[in-house]
Amino acid sequence: MQNFRFQTVPLIINETGALARLGEFIQQEFPACRRLFIVSDAGLVSSGILQAGLDNLDQLGLQYQLYAGVVPDPPEAVVLLAAQQAREFGSDLVIGMGGGSAMDVAKLIAVLCGNDQALSSMYGINQIRGKRLPLVQIPTTAGTGSEVTNISIVTTGETTKMGVVAPQLFADLAILDASLTTGLPVATTAATGIDAMVHAIEAYTTRHKKNPVSDMLARQALKLLFNHIDRACSHGRDLAARQAMLLGAMMAGQAFANAPCAAVHALAYPIGGRFHVPHGLSNSLVLPTVLRFNLPAASEQYAELAEILAPDATGSAEARANAMINALADLALRTGIPTRLRQVGIRETDLEQLASDAMQQTRLLGNNPREVSWQDAYEIYAAVL
Ligand SMILES: [Zn+2]
Repeated sequence: MQNFRFQTVPLIINETGALARLGEFIQQEFPACRRLFIVSDAGLVSSGILQAGLDNLDQLGLQYQLYAGVVPDPPEAVVLLAAQQAREFGSDLVIGMGGGSAMDVAKLIAVLCGNDQALSSMYGINQIRGKRLPLVQIPTTAGTGSEVTNISIVTTGETTKMGVVAPQLFADLAILDASLTTGLPVATTAATGIDAMVHAIEAYTTRHKKNPVSDMLARQALKLLFNHIDRACSHGRDLAARQAMLLGAMMAGQAFANAPCAAVHALAYPIGGRFHVPHGLSNSLVLPTVLRFNLPAASEQYAELAEILAPDATGSAEARANAMINALADLALRTGIPTRLRQVGIRETDLEQLASDAMQQTRLLGNNPREVSWQDAYEIYAAVL
């Protein structure tokens, strides 16, 4: 048996309607905490879907401050501003409520309020020295899995993104409540759901740290996501389908927090960074072509996943792997989201820059089952154009 480490969030509550009991959960799990700092974005706050949670905090006399200033691809300045407000409020617990951006910002606020280390010295792997405030994460999309990962992505320059990866970023509690996701548009449901499937696939085929626990989670995540994504898209108010998507995205998050992502994400990040394409869609765009590129190195593993994604496929491992990739390509087409780079405003003259940017993602590329050169990256982008 191989040696490995597996780490995740100690408490996960999977319960439709749980947000309305937020205050109860806080009192049970963090009885000393009285001043909660809630990190979210303006769209969610004005939508009113957070209200059930806020009402419960009011009923139980828990003080809170709501920060609604998170934006997609959050810049460093937003993190620092929010952390300053959290400090001034005297926060003793941080709650992230939203998609990946809100949860990523919440992680860093909990750390910045918990010790005096500068954010600029936290980028990279295991660079956080001190402790953090108690941290609760409540996702409102079924995609990033950020509620159970130890990663926070911050935009540090015009287009550059930096990652903080540290065990302190694992939350204390994650709450999965499908009632928060029923209003998501079809395109967001599809793209975030496919992103979660990418997390599972890349964890399953990652070159380092793949282990029996991450494999089990990746397979179960794929099963939940693939079997419910069509229903969640066509019947957005179906709570059972939505809860299954949240659970699948969370399990995929647990898998890739321990068996990290690879070339699909490496090629997706420049698309998001340069063209402000949402993270899920960026991944979905390059997914089938990167998997086809990986075939010479990963066809056995993809054939194993074909049992879930293309159960009727027969023949050689290569044939079953191809059926699995085709099933993913069909899924994107079926949901109607863009499948070509041109559809999101990318031109042929942009591809060299994208390939160069992708080469900077060495942390991710090193995990890919097949080595990716600049020329390979360029050709993958060109094939998706
Ligand atoms: Zn992702």
